Amino acid sequence: MIMEQQRTQIVKFGRKMSASGLCVGTSGNISVFDPRTGYLCISPSGLGYFETEPEDIVVMDLAGNVIEGERKPSSEHGLHTIVYLNRPDARAVVHTHSPFATTLASMHETLKPAHYAMMGAAVYEIPLVEYETFGSAELASAVEMALRATPATRALLLANHGDVCLHESLSKAFALAENIEFTSRVQWQCACAGRPVYLTRDQFARALERSRTYGQVPNGR
Ligand code: 13P
Ligand code: ZN
Repeated sequence: MIMEQQRTQIVKFGRKMSASGLCVGTSGNISVFDPRTGYLCISPSGLGYFETEPEDIVVMDLAGNVIEGERKPSSEHGLHTIVYLNRPDARAVVHTHSPFATTLASMHETLKPAHYAMMGAAVYEIPLVEYETFGSAELASAVEMALRATPATRALLLANHGDVCLHESLSKAFALAENIEFTSRVQWQCACAGRPVYLTRDQFARALERSRTYGQVPNGR
């Protein structure tokens, strides 16, 4: 079995995604890209995260061919592929239907920094991708257009659907999905109770700068 380590990682994070409530049932999907082989590993379509084992993960190339795996790959494999083709920095993609991000996306709102935790997305405003049917080539194209229009973004909201997060590792893409959900909830709660006060672009830029030395990074203080 090739890419065993990446498959095991997808199984682990799929269970976390399900247990944390970021995804209901079999919604959402996860992939990891290996630039050395040009292959991605992706979760299977419509299989519960706690029923998914490493052998159920599907290995594909960026042309959409299955390299290894018996299962049908996620219906969003085209969307994941489009992300890797457009973002050479991406090593993992997490797509969720997390409730509050999906709430904003279903009101056709963008996500803005009512809280600084959104900084992981690397942009001040997370774009909204227009509605297209799930699993369609049209949805993948709409994602591509959004990534080209906002080249720095690590997150997108999908109208009436959910969100997409990309990052240099699966643990970072997953953490970003958690923070997008938290910030979406804050924005929505503020809108329910009154009016969100968004950070200014300057305040957001400072938080982003501060984030470079946050946590257990070398020479970080
Ligand atoms: P899959 O089960 O095919 O990955 O689809 C879930 C989903 O979220 C579709 O957008
Ligand atoms: Zn979906």
